[in-house]
Amino acid sequence: MSSPMQLPKPSLPPTSTEIHTDALDLVEKCPEGIVFLDREWRITYANESARRISRIEPHHLNGPTHWEIYPATVGTRQEEVYRTSMEQRISLEHEFYYAPFDVWISLRTMPISTGIAVHYRDISRVRKAEARRDESARQLQQVFEVTTDAIVLLDRNYNLSFLNRRAKELLAPSGELLGRNLWAAFPEAVYEGSPYVETYRRAMEERLPGSFEAYYPEPLNVWLTIEVRPAEDGIIVFFRDVTEERAAAEELRRKTAEAERQAAEIETVYRTAPIGLALFDPVEFRYLRLNDRQAAFFGLKPEDVLGRTLTEMAPIPGLRELFEDVLAGTPVVNYPLEGELISHPGEHRYWTVNYFPVHAPDGSIQAISAASLEITQQKKAEHALIQSEKVAAVGRLASSISHEINNPLESVINLLYLISCDPNLSLDVKEYVELTQAEINRVSQIVTQTLRFHRQAVRPTLVTAAELIEPILNLYRGRLVNSEVKVQARFSTSTPVLCMENEIHQVLSNLIANAIDAMRQGGELLLRAHDTTDHATGKAGIRITVADTGHGMSRATQARIFEPFFTTKELNGTGLGLWISAGIVERHKGRLSVRSSQEPRHSGTVFHLFLPLAES
Ligand code: ADP
Ligand code: MG
Repeated sequence: MSSPMQLPKPSLPPTSTEIHTDALDLVEKCPEGIVFLDREWRITYANESARRISRIEPHHLNGPTHWEIYPATVGTRQEEVYRTSMEQRISLEHEFYYAPFDVWISLRTMPISTGIAVHYRDISRVRKAEARRDESARQLQQVFEVTTDAIVLLDRNYNLSFLNRRAKELLAPSGELLGRNLWAAFPEAVYEGSPYVETYRRAMEERLPGSFEAYYPEPLNVWLTIEVRPAEDGIIVFFRDVTEERAAAEELRRKTAEAERQAAEIETVYRTAPIGLALFDPVEFRYLRLNDRQAAFFGLKPEDVLGRTLTEMAPIPGLRELFEDVLAGTPVVNYPLEGELISHPGEHRYWTVNYFPVHAPDGSIQAISAASLEITQQKKAEHALIQSEKVAAVGRLASSISHEINNPLESVINLLYLISCDPNLSLDVKEYVELTQAEINRVSQIVTQTLRFHRQAVRPTLVTAAELIEPILNLYRGRLVNSEVKVQARFSTSTPVLCMENEIHQVLSNLIANAIDAMRQGGELLLRAHDTTDHATGKAGIRITVADTGHGMSRATQARIFEPFFTTKELNGTGLGLWISAGIVERHKGRLSVRSSQEPRHSGTVFHLFLPLAES
């Protein structure tokens, strides 16, 4: 495809009319305002921009004077400029603020044939931005002056080019620093590894911000945080006095540590207090919190009890009602509670309890706190005491009866003896008399033994093993026969030991009673006594052995037999026998040891009682 060549048209110079029209058009559309004022100060022409900037209406043209249209300009520098320009036929420049229109104007006058022309621009935007910049610079300056940070500017050569008020106070209380070289002014900051040198250099050369903390010694005695920032032509350094902050932080740290220590202490006391402590929710009475002792009531760990309800764990009649009383405003104080726990059915236990409401800040009850002191052992001890009082009373009664019987018995024995000596007795009668004598002798023996057994010794006496064991064996003869227990007693010592006889009687009585208890289906009771030397102390003494072929005991039982109230005999035992015995043996500086086996066909228990000889 080909296009026809276009030849340029021959151009003609424009006519003067054409130029005139273009010039007028240009003036009209010029972005600057242009007005013509005649010698009578009337506006004869205003272009588009002028009409807009100076709000010129058609009726302003060729009518009223400029001074009438803009009365605020009368008597101002503007009027002076206009008049001078008009009279002297010179061009002048002027800038001013015209308040009625809130504009800044920059103008230039020019004499023309009919008067003057004024062309001008609205420079409000520029002027206002400048004003704002000045204002913020002024404000910044103010901030610099009042800020508690010390601010310093260093030029590229480390000369101090600006210090705010605080910087002057802090760094130069005694002399002018402005313009001086930093390192010359503060030679003490220049040393190997100085953070001043290092951080300032990095900011200056690598343009990296940095900060460090330093102690500023006498006469200031302050801790400073020093922050360094690269600035346009150097670096800017902020010094902040952090002495108080540091002291406050230190104080806070100390107080926090103290509070934590106290909290830990309270927590430990709470956890390990020998009293059950717990917190319950006030709606369903569930465990929210509890200490070790409270959980130990159930034989559990606290975490195993959390979330469970009061009555689920302790189904004690009336307990729920006590909690409801607390909710209704009646705290429970030192209330004696007794009953069974879910964990130990059949075991009756006793507590002294205190239940209190825990109030929320708004006064509502947010929890119930419970403190429970278990007193089961005290209760049992009370019972045991009553029991032993009864036994003692029976003993005293028995011994007084024995005492009363003893004298007539002696007479009967004597009389029987006299009768037996009579040669006229028939053989039959003689036999009856002998039988009677034998029976009476047994009665006499029982009476003396009862007397002896219950005699309350006040000082230790010298007794042999046989004297210690035989009365007890006699006492249990009936039970031994009933339980088909065979007795083997062999004493290979007759060394007397110094002891509280009735107390050792009690020990042996406990050991033999336990042995009989362990042999319900019969068995053998072995009693032995030897001279011996205690291997641990090297002391001489006697050893009494009480051994049975009963059911024996487990390791777990053996570990606890000397604890008070430990019994495997439920209602038939008090669990006090061995505990009391151990106490007695200890007072005698003796030793009570045990071995036991539950092996079938070889089961049995051996107790050894060592009693030391009196030291000469
Ligand atoms: P109690 O006889 O009232 O139970 P003790 O203190 O005398 O109290 O004995 C504690 C426990 O020791 C007994 O309940 C029993 O389990 C165990 N025990 C003591 N002696 C023997 C023994 N000879 N054979 C088996 N178990 C024994
Ligand atoms: Mg017993």
